[in-house]
Amino acid sequence: MKEQFIYSQKPFGHLVSPSLKKAGAAHLFTAKEGGVSTGVYSGFNFAAGSGNPPDKWENVVENHRIAAEYLGLSAEDVCRSYQTHSSTVKTVGKAHRGTGLTKPPFDMGVDGLVCAEEGVLLSVRGADCVTVLLYDGKNRVCGACHSGWRGTLDKIAAKTAEAMCAIGAEKRHIVAAIGPSARSCCYNVGEELYETFTAADPQNHRFFEKRDNGLYLDLQNAVCATLEEAGLMPQNIADGGECSICRPDRYFSHRRSGVMRGTMAAFITL
Ligand SMILES: [Zn+2]
Repeated sequence: MKEQFIYSQKPFGHLVSPSLKKAGAAHLFTAKEGGVSTGVYSGFNFAAGSGNPPDKWENVVENHRIAAEYLGLSAEDVCRSYQTHSSTVKTVGKAHRGTGLTKPPFDMGVDGLVCAEEGVLLSVRGADCVTVLLYDGKNRVCGACHSGWRGTLDKIAAKTAEAMCAIGAEKRHIVAAIGPSARSCCYNVGEELYETFTAADPQNHRFFEKRDNGLYLDLQNAVCATLEEAGLMPQNIADGGECSICRPDRYFSHRRSGVMRGTMAAFITL
């Protein structure tokens, strides 16, 4: 379902999902405004990036510290993976606090994180790619994943929900929220992507719109469908509806700026 997320500029630009908030999840999706990064990374940037030069690592750590403190935690509590558009989901706990930020990263690509322990701040990132936060408030399990087109094709959001259930969550109690990302208003894709998706499942044609002699991919609808097929209740899947490409004032976008841009993050903790 579409849901108007609540945007605040204070103490930094961020969005909150009313559904996740109602379920009791401490969470946020960051926007550009705030933070200490400068230049092309200006604002609230959460990755060193592939630009030349990359953002200063100390700025990236400081931005995480600012977001973590807002949620009552510290940079040392953040668990952050090296994302590779994989569909690998990792179960983490207190022992993994600091991973990928103040401690070395996991030695493999991980694009989904789940946790049933308190005091661990899960973080995933995107600058057009979909970020999904998940929470089961009854069984106290949270999850987060990065779902670009590859992850969406490989159903990483569903795999994250399954991984949550393996540590105590129940599908009927999981609430999911879809963050700012490239939407079908702007996300023009090539014919080969259509072929890749429909080869995986002919039904995937429903996620593409043909207009103005172009093809547009509706990633958010595909993520919602994946979660529903996995057994989540449709009314528990909240799509914030914000397009990262449409809003240069508010969001970083890879499609708009290439590698010379910052990266947004989504955070959740128990
Ligand atoms: Zn748009």
